[in-house]
Amino acid sequence: MNKLLVEKNSGSNIVIDIKGRRLGGKEKFIFSGPCAVEDYDSMIALGKRLKVLGVHGLRGGVFKPRTSPYDFQGLKEEGLEIMKRVGEELDMIVSTEIMDTRDVENSLNYIDIIQIGSRNMYNYSLLKEVGKTDIPIILKRGMSSTIKEWLYAAEYIMREGNEKVILCERGIRTFETYTRNTLDLNAVAYVKEKYRLPIIVDPSHGTGLRELVHKMSLAGIAAGADGLIIESHLKPEEAISDARQTISLDTLEGIIKSVKTMENIL
Ligand code: PEP
Ligand code: MN
Repeated sequence: MNKLLVEKNSGSNIVIDIKGRRLGGKEKFIFSGPCAVEDYDSMIALGKRLKVLGVHGLRGGVFKPRTSPYDFQGLKEEGLEIMKRVGEELDMIVSTEIMDTRDVENSLNYIDIIQIGSRNMYNYSLLKEVGKTDIPIILKRGMSSTIKEWLYAAEYIMREGNEKVILCERGIRTFETYTRNTLDLNAVAYVKEKYRLPIIVDPSHGTGLRELVHKMSLAGIAAGADGLIIESHLKPEEAISDARQTISLDTLEGIIKSVKTMENIL
């Protein structure tokens, strides 16, 4: 690769200012929330608790890329409204996944960050479309993508003018079956060492198992991640989607405490 925008020699390391909070700086940035937005009441109740714990950004899917077309597909427009309302009421950053180029422009009225999901990392039309906006983009790694392909996906966004790209390592598919994915922490250390983009780790999709989320959160931070994105729920077992990897707020509180300790050590 030569003279790419993602490379260190193309500019300084990218630090993204999101509503006055900095992602990519010294402080580790924590996103949390349900896999899927379920309704306003549960989202505001969860959001209030997350804010007290010091979570920076709320996540919650409203367009859900489910493996089965018969599974819950998300609240769509209604979900966008909920995210906006909760974000405003709690003065928190909100992020959701956008899957379709036709939803990009409208989503800007509702959210602070667009997430590109693993399944869409290769959707070059979508990458170019979000590259024309000027809001931060969380770019999840394709589940079968190499680091190189992932960086080129980031490049697709950046060359349209939007350099606010946050890479997210969410695990890749390997021959292993006991865990949902294999969280590739090599990729985190590698990207931090050689490229100028911030990177966060998703230990929820990376493992698929809530009992592993605390340990792999810390492993991600140790590998150099600038933050974490973790699925949480007031009643994890009852989450509509990805319940098995969703953690309780008690667990999340413990993780945030450990991350703070690590921040000081690092
Ligand atoms: C999600 O964040 O809920 C999600 C669908 O993630 P991924 O695209 O990494 O599978
Ligand atoms: Mn999920």
